Amino acid sequence: MFEYSENRFQIKPSVKKQIKSLAYDELVDYLQAAGEEKYRADQILHEIFVNRATDFSQMTQLPKHLRKMLAEVFDITSISLEEKRVSADGSVKFLFSLADRKFIEAVYMPWANDDGEVERSTLCISTMSGCPVGCAFCATGTLGFKKNLSPSEIIDQIFIVEQELGTKINNIVLMGMGEPLLNYENVVRAISLLADEKTKVISRRKITLSTSGIAPRIRELAHSKFPPKLAISLHATTNGTRNKIMPIAQSFDLSSLMDAVEYYYRHTKMKITYEYIPFDGINDSAEDAERLRKIAQRVPSRVNFIPFNDISFTKPQGVSFELKPSPPERVARIADYLRSHKIAVIVRDSFGRDIEAACGQLALSREK
Ligand code: SAH
Ligand code: SF4
Repeated sequence: MFEYSENRFQIKPSVKKQIKSLAYDELVDYLQAAGEEKYRADQILHEIFVNRATDFSQMTQLPKHLRKMLAEVFDITSISLEEKRVSADGSVKFLFSLADRKFIEAVYMPWANDDGEVERSTLCISTMSGCPVGCAFCATGTLGFKKNLSPSEIIDQIFIVEQELGTKINNIVLMGMGEPLLNYENVVRAISLLADEKTKVISRRKITLSTSGIAPRIRELAHSKFPPKLAISLHATTNGTRNKIMPIAQSFDLSSLMDAVEYYYRHTKMKITYEYIPFDGINDSAEDAERLRKIAQRVPSRVNFIPFNDISFTKPQGVSFELKPSPPERVARIADYLRSHKIAVIVRDSFGRDIEAACGQLALSREK
C-alpha cells in the first residue's frame, strides 16, 4: 500500500532558533533577559507540549508583543513530513526532511490485543540522519554520518506522527536512524523535555534507548535526570564475532559493555533488553546459546530476537554480503533453551515488510 501525504508541515530552511531545543532554564533566561516574567516560560511550554501549538499566534494567553517577539526569533516545528507509507500490517513509515534537506525516518507500530484493538502504539524514532557506526547488517550505516538531530528534531517526529494519525503514542523507542549515545546531549535533553513534570508527554519508563554499546555513555545515562529503559544491540556473544559485524565493539569489548550494563541496572533497577539478530552460521550455534544465557543472566533482562531485514538494496560487500538470516527452527531452539533457564525471550516478527521498512531504506533512496 502506498499513500502520499499532503505536506501540512512544510517548513522552509530557516535561520531561526528551535524553541523546543531549549531546556526550561534556558527559556527562562531568554525571557528574563528580554524583560519578561519567569511564569511565561511555563505558559509557553504548556502551549507547545500540552496544547501542541504549531504557531505562536495560537498562544493567546501570551501578550501580543511577546508572541511577535518569539515568532521573530524562534521556529516551533523544525522538521517536515515528506512521505508516509502504510503497511498491510498496520505499521506506518514516515520520511521526514530536516531544514537542510537531510532525511530521517520514523516507524509507527500498533500492537493489537486478541480483539484486534490497538493496545499499545509504539513509535520508533531517529536520533541522527545516517550513522557513523557502520554495523555490517545495517542500511543506515551505509549512509555514513550526516547530522546529529537537535532535541526539537527528535521531539517533532512524535508530535507530527500523533497529529497525522490522530492517535496518542504510548511507547517510544530510540531505534531509528543513528546511535543515540553518540548524540548524547541532544538525546538526553529531548528525553528530559518529554518526561518532565511540566510537559508530561510520556514517562521515561515508556522510552527505550537502543545502543550499539557506547559503554561510558551508558554509565553517564544512569545518572541523567530521566533514565530511560535500555536496550543493547548485542548480536554476538564473543568479541571476535562482534568485532566483525559491529566495528564499535573494537572500542568497547563485551566485558566493558557488560560492566556498564550492570552499572546501569544497579542504578535504575530497570530490566535490560538485549537485541539479537540471528545470522546463519555466524552467531546461532549451541555455544552461542550458552554464552547468551550467561550474558542474559547477569542482571534481570530479556532477549529479543529480531529478524534480519534484507539490505540487498545497499549492494552489500564483504562481511555484510555473507549475512543471511538463521533458519526459524534454529532461532526457536535457542529461544527454548533460554526459556528453559527462565529467561524472558521474544521472537519478533518484522513489521512493514511491504513498505521498505528496513531502517534507512527510504532515506537512502531519497539521498540518492
Ligand atoms: N544505533 C542504535 C539504535 C538504532 S538501530 C543501535 O544500534 O542499537 C536499532 C536496532 O535495529 C538495533 O538493534 C540494530 O541492531 C537493528 N538493526 C539494524 N539493521 C538491521 C537489519 N537489517 N535487520 C534487523 N535489525 C536491524
Ligand atoms: Fe548505527 Fe545502530 Fe545501524 Fe549500527 S545498527 S549502524 S549503531 S544505526
